[in-house]
Amino acid sequence: MVSSAPLIPLNSGTSIPQVGFGVFLIPPEDTQRAVEDALEVGYRHIDTATAYRNEAEVGAAVRASGLPREEVFVTTKLRNDDHAAGDVEGAFERSLQALDLGYIDLYLIHWPMPRVDRYVDTWRAFDPFRADGRARSIGVSNFHVAHLERIIAETGVTPAMNQVELHPTFQQRELRAFHAAHGIQTEAWAPLGQGRYDIFNLPPMQRAAAAHGVTPAQVVLRWHLQTGIVALPKSSFRERMRENLDITGFELSADEMAAIDALDENKRLAADPDDFNS
Ligand code: NAD
Repeated sequence: MVSSAPLIPLNSGTSIPQVGFGVFLIPPEDTQRAVEDALEVGYRHIDTATAYRNEAEVGAAVRASGLPREEVFVTTKLRNDDHAAGDVEGAFERSLQALDLGYIDLYLIHWPMPRVDRYVDTWRAFDPFRADGRARSIGVSNFHVAHLERIIAETGVTPAMNQVELHPTFQQRELRAFHAAHGIQTEAWAPLGQGRYDIFNLPPMQRAAAAHGVTPAQVVLRWHLQTGIVALPKSSFRERMRENLDITGFELSADEMAAIDALDENKRLAADPDDFNS
């Protein structure tokens, strides 16, 4: 078993393993096996969402693992339909029941949907979940600085987390600076660029991989780790799951980090959250 990722403290007083296993696009019938594999490999952090339709299988895998509940960090997210309908409490309870793990470690607003314009009310509706312990931490996903500024100003509650698209050619520097100033943890989805651009063949990845005897994917994930980001790589293959978690046995030098920092093109792969409203 690979040793689990380092823990990062959250503003809620809990902490989160810095590498999590994401289950987006894993079909429900394959999810329990994939999560059981991930837990066996050494992951202690699973990222799902109501929209992924595999919360029940994630919960079943965590229970089947026999691990103490407090050793596994589970995130899920409010589905856009429930957000738009204002059914926040109902949606949260359905997630809690589907997962069947007693409590949720981190509950996120999946997308701000600014044209629907309910995210401030939705955020206000999240606070009781944390207050009564049904969720240990609450946060958001795909929020821009303007959305964060608005929820903080109007509710006085700062999210523990903002989970956003982030990888070497889209480094989210302005957003990360805002997070750092407000004690919000940054979490990267698509940390490996979804394998959609030639990320692994870029010279800084190739050079560092050769220097440390690791793979380019491990270099990218190590860059996230040393930048202080929580990363959620996804793979259905056990060997890649292991590879993606096994990133604590080497360290990138300042020059290697700078070479990856210099790859930023501020270019998204996926939808701009301002344009994603359903
Ligand atoms: P990712 O960057 O993790 O890319 C996954 C792809 O990278 C795989 O399908 C595979 O093709 C490749 N890959 C993985 N490991 C590899 C390795 N070791 N070597 C070579 N190729 C490898 O992107 P993702 O799957 O989009 O995101 C990860 C997780 O983030 C999701 O499972 C989900 O939990 C979360 N997510 C959240 C949102 C959101 O809106 N909050 C959106 C998308 C994804």
